Amino acid sequence: QLMRKKLIAGNWKMHGSRVANEILVRSLLAEPALEPSVELVVLVPAPYLAQMQQLLGDSACAWGGQDVSDQERGAFTGEVAASMLREFGCRYTVVGHSERRQRHGETDVQVAAKAQQALSQDLIPILCLGESLEQREAGKTAQVMRHQLGVLLDVLGEAGMVRSVLAYEPVWAIGTGRSATPAQVQEVHAWLRQQCAEVSPGLAENIQILYGGSVKGANAVELMALPDVDGALVGGASLVAQEFLAIARAA
Ligand code: PEP
Repeated sequence: QLMRKKLIAGNWKMHGSRVANEILVRSLLAEPALEPSVELVVLVPAPYLAQMQQLLGDSACAWGGQDVSDQERGAFTGEVAASMLREFGCRYTVVGHSERRQRHGETDVQVAAKAQQALSQDLIPILCLGESLEQREAGKTAQVMRHQLGVLLDVLGEAGMVRSVLAYEPVWAIGTGRSATPAQVQEVHAWLRQQCAEVSPGLAENIQILYGGSVKGANAVELMALPDVDGALVGGASLVAQEFLAIARAA
């Protein structure tokens, strides 16, 4: 556990403008002293990747995409290839965010194929998984997550998983202001790590598991202190520099 770094990832979703992005990113860069064991990444709409490369190029703050195609190239109008993210300096990309699963019908198999494309270009996929409120209330959390994780483990194998990041994002906690409780978060994260341990103890020990769902400065300290939480995937609060930095300081 001591070996795992913390990752604080800001998912801007479909927000931003050239002017607003520059103000936000300059505020992040003005933060003097983050622990070297904490890495920051901003996950931005694809049209802004070039701007991130220009503004963040020499900094310690990484950038990445919010989605990636499950295909390498070709007649896939509107999609963005992993090689294109790579060309614009991305280190990470989100894969399987619940908003894409819900709005675009992405399946576990497609999500795994997207992760494979990312890995093929040496991008680190941030693999999102989590249950809906309906599934939680029906007592199906473990069943849903076992399937989501199972497909990833099958397709990516240990070799792919060790180069990935997991993000537990209960759908009912995303953008609702209602974070999961620390006890709920730790329970699922420990379970995820246990599942990874069945593949290999080394994977379980090394894989970063982020929590996402209404993380903000005010709840970050208790969430980031949990033993199996290795950082946060932050939506709304990542658009406010001081909130995002407060989360990073808590990590
Ligand atoms: C997200 O979009 O991944 C997320 C966790 O959003 P929010 O922090 O706004 O709940």
